[in-house]
Amino acid sequence: MPVSGLPPYDSQNIFARILRGEIPCRKVFENEFALAFHDINPQAPVHVLVIPKGPYCSFADFAATAPEADIAGFFRTVGTVAKDLGLEAPGYRMLANMGEHSGQEVPHFHVHLFGGRPLGRMIP
Ligand code: 5GP
Repeated sequence: MPVSGLPPYDSQNIFARILRGEIPCRKVFENEFALAFHDINPQAPVHVLVIPKGPYCSFADFAATAPEADIAGFFRTVGTVAKDLGLEAPGYRMLANMGEHSGQEVPHFHVHLFGGRPLGRMIP
């Protein structure tokens, strides 16, 4: 359920369709909490998206409404995926766009993992 002031979840968004297997993806990992797959337009040598399986349109929605076990399971999975991709020792960036000012394109909560080269400072 979306938090108030945010739009309702659009079950036809591209990541919902990937979760349902209607659109292919280059899968990296999947468990009960998350699906991880390569971004179609990579911005770094490694650019992977990790998405929860439930219908959450953004981080705000996920953080406010997902069961705590699902939040923990999701973020542990993000860490595991980064480690399994070999990103942990050299380091990586994780990023989640949330809402209009961030430029969030796809209205299904997702974490970007960037790595494979020095990424430079990026704040904001
Ligand atoms: P956002 O701007 O919402 O944080 O990021 C959305 C990301 O989804 C972008 O990096 C974009 O390249 C990626 N993306 C959009 N459509 C697809 C798709 O159909 N497949 C995959 N694998 N990535 C997509």
